[in-house]
Amino acid sequence: MPGFCPELVGSMSEGAAGNPTGVMIEAAFAHHGLAWRYVNMEVATAALGDAVRGSRATGFRGFNCSMPHKVAVIDHLDGLAPSASVIGAVNCVVRDGERLVGHNTDGEGFLRALGERVRVRGTRIVLLGAGGAARAIAVELGFAGAAEVTIVNRDEGRGTELAELIAANTRAVWRPWVGDVVVPPGTDVLVNATSVGLYAPDDRPAVDVASLDNAGLVADVVFNPVDTRLLREAAALGCATLDGLGMLVHQGAAAVERWAGVSPDRSVMREALAAALTP
Ligand code: NDP
Repeated sequence: MPGFCPELVGSMSEGAAGNPTGVMIEAAFAHHGLAWRYVNMEVATAALGDAVRGSRATGFRGFNCSMPHKVAVIDHLDGLAPSASVIGAVNCVVRDGERLVGHNTDGEGFLRALGERVRVRGTRIVLLGAGGAARAIAVELGFAGAAEVTIVNRDEGRGTELAELIAANTRAVWRPWVGDVVVPPGTDVLVNATSVGLYAPDDRPAVDVASLDNAGLVADVVFNPVDTRLLREAAALGCATLDGLGMLVHQGAAAVERWAGVSPDRSVMREALAAALTP
């Protein structure tokens, strides 16, 4: 029977005020006439367990996890979906009966956005970074049949661990980040999966700009600003570019699919997001 109680989902993170996900997901709920609400919650690390228990008590259908809870939340869940288990991090929790199951839609979101531009199977990828976003992307690239993933990262431990993690599915190597990264000829996609450029329109990762057009496509996971310096400089050389909004929209859409069983209209979500991020 229809009532006055919406279905609840949301997000748990620190620095929640800077997280625009709720805007696009609520736009999708409204567009599809769903009586669901998305609550963006500031949750301190020490309170994460209580917050997850609270979500069980109040009947939340699920929630996103953002920094710094993507790994720590696993201790409070009842199970993990396969990608989250391999990646070792959760950005989307789905209630399945009484169980809270951790998923990871970050890599899936990137792959869906990338798949709108290139056929991923057989591609040669240069991936900058080996943190949470890079890890999720690399794992999904392996599953999608990328031929080669070169991981360029400052920290050797994180870089080699990630290369080893995906080596069963793709040719994977770690390269140290020395000076400006030269993009090798024959690269299909260069992906910036570092946090360089986030909230800093004048920053970009240390790359040899003249070599950017060795890549068929230059992609950035940074979505604020949308038009990062890396993408602007790549576009100025005539390179095709892919911004971080596509990944954000698709990972949010994947969450809505899991929670509500509805495939939301991505263009509605992207429009809401772009409007929210316009200064
Ligand atoms: P992490 O902190 O887990 O990883 C950060 C990565 O950036 C590490 O590999 C780190 O290298 C690297 N890095 C940081 N500073 C530099 C630098 N000056 N030069 C070279 N490398 C550097 O962060 P996340 O992976 O969670 O997030 C990365 C970015 O992805 C953020 O901007 C985030 O907003 C974005 N993101 C976007 C999403 C989207 O939907 N568009 C979804 C999720 C994240 P090292 O290991 O050597 O320290």
